[in-house]
Amino acid sequence: MACVFCGVEEGTTVAAHYSGKYSSQVGKGGSEKGWDHVSAWACADCHSSLDSYAEGNDDSRAIKFFLAIFETQRRLFEEGVLVVRRR
Ligand SMILES: [Zn+2]
Repeated sequence: MACVFCGVEEGTTVAAHYSGKYSSQVGKGGSEKGWDHVSAWACADCHSSLDSYAEGNDDSRAIKFFLAIFETQRRLFEEGVLVVRRR
């Protein structure tokens, strides 16, 4: 999978759970990880950069992360991994 942040596809991409300013609103607390569906595909370098808050921890980082999560979900829909069942 290609990293949604930088586009690199080198086999290091994993789901990076959102962490940051709004973590407590997305399931993260104490030793708990955030909700799985609030994660974005990130390569090792981008994941490391996110984990170290290299770009700070402001709203612009949160928006960038959330947009990456939306892009990840779009790709999951395209691949048929994420399905919305109609009633
Ligand atoms: Zn990347």
